[in-house]
Amino acid sequence: MATASSGSARKAKRRAARPRVSVLRIGHRPGRDPRLTTHLALAARALGAERMYLHPPDPSVEESLRRVASKWGGRFEVVPAANWRAVVREHAGGVVHLTMYGLELARLVPRLRRASSLLFVVGGAKVPSDLYRIADYNVAVGDQPHSEVAALAVALERVRGLPVRGGRAGAQLQIVPSARGKKVRVRPGSPP
Ligand code: SAM
Repeated sequence: MATASSGSARKAKRRAARPRVSVLRIGHRPGRDPRLTTHLALAARALGAERMYLHPPDPSVEESLRRVASKWGGRFEVVPAANWRAVVREHAGGVVHLTMYGLELARLVPRLRRASSLLFVVGGAKVPSDLYRIADYNVAVGDQPHSEVAALAVALERVRGLPVRGGRAGAQLQIVPSARGKKVRVRPGSPP
């Protein structure tokens, strides 16, 4: 007979088996896109990615995410990528290019969930055509143009599920869920 503890053990096993995810953002325009690219990195971090490679590099985005991590914890980092093709070539795992021209996400989800490591690649206004060939999968989230943040968020939720709540290692702040207003726990020893 299945017990509550065997159920939670199964859940923990499933969580541990989720693919590890990195994101590669190409086509960033320093000076024009910092807000959008910062939102992309925030979504990647919040939904369980370990890092976001950024091409071309932009120290302002790296710094914003360092500030977020120092308050909210975890190990997420923005990694400058002067050569994005090298990031794709050297990734040990599946390369998933998110594009509205790709195959339907739902069809690929079972296969992507079984991967141990994935690199999700998102573009900007224009995507270099060789990316379609060098990616292992070209994947569409719906069949309409929208945004790299929306596409990444939906894909991460479908492939990894929502991260477990409860704050991250090294966090100064932790949200206490609240029906109204804002409740935030400040960890002892955090700077004022
Ligand atoms: N024509 C582009 C394309 O190939 O999807 C749309 C450019 S859109 C401004 C910037 C990025 O958002 C794309 O490179 C892609 O990563 C992502 N994106 C937009 N719509 C998408 C969709 N329906 N499915 C998957 N990714 C999408």
